[in-house]
Amino acid sequence: MARRYNIRRVKIHRSYEVSEAAKLLDVHKHTISRWIDAGLPLVAPKRPFLILGKDLREFLQARHPRKQPCRAGEIYCLRCRTPKRPAFDEVEFVPKTATIGVLAGLCPTCASMLYRLTKTASLAAATGDLKVTRSPAQERLCDCPDPSLNVHFQ
Ligand SMILES: [Zn+2]
Repeated sequence: MARRYNIRRVKIHRSYEVSEAAKLLDVHKHTISRWIDAGLPLVAPKRPFLILGKDLREFLQARHPRKQPCRAGEIYCLRCRTPKRPAFDEVEFVPKTATIGVLAGLCPTCASMLYRLTKTASLAAATGDLKVTRSPAQERLCDCPDPSLNVHFQ
């Protein structure tokens, strides 16, 4: 799985040495050297090798395009890294609060669970023509009315 870097740390008006860029993005400096070989521009082809923050940010953004938004009836699959229509055209809606709930479905490609946080009011817009099963809100484990009497310390 491709790693994602926190490119917000890169200041576009700064220039970085290879070691600084490596520390900033928490990668090895050999990784930065590979990026330079792969087309990351340098300020000048001599030591110390300086990289413009703007170039570094653009380079990483180009390598990791933003994820596509989901249309109606789709949920983003974290493993496939793409929006998927849930298997069997079915999703389950589990309310979390009075206004928000989670849609849960199964990825038809990799069979992992798909989750999408949705406002109850915009449920129809999120699910489109999928078949929606509503399940009751899950009770919390700590809501047990009778505390356990099975206590050993005395
Ligand atoms: Zn998947």
